[in-house]
Amino acid sequence: MTAPAAAAPPPLAVLLARGWRKRCPRCGEGRLFKRLNVMHEHCAVCGLRYLEDQGDLFGYLFALDRVLFLAPLIGLVFLRVWVPSSTWFYGLWALAMLALVVTLPQRTGVGVALDYLRRRRRAAA
Ligand SMILES: [Zn+2]
Repeated sequence: MTAPAAAAPPPLAVLLARGWRKRCPRCGEGRLFKRLNVMHEHCAVCGLRYLEDQGDLFGYLFALDRVLFLAPLIGLVFLRVWVPSSTWFYGLWALAMLALVVTLPQRTGVGVALDYLRRRRRAAA
């Protein structure tokens, strides 16, 4: 299925799901990655260029890293909702760092989807 470029972008939830599944934000079918974290330039199905500039992803990854992994742990401890022993703290910290590495392709996919939405809204304005 080919999505026309002029059609309205899919809803945000659909875009985020496509990004998390590492699929093209426009058509939902083309793969984002050649290998683990090496992206294709264009969608093989609809031809969408995934990023205008590789630096476009930096802000999204920066925000997602802090929101998903670091802020909850820091918030829990800083607000004294939960004060873990040092063993728990370092164990959770190591788990968060492992999750950061393992979910990098999914977070990159979400970043590409959000960048696609930003570009579409900017083009429509
Ligand atoms: Zn596509």
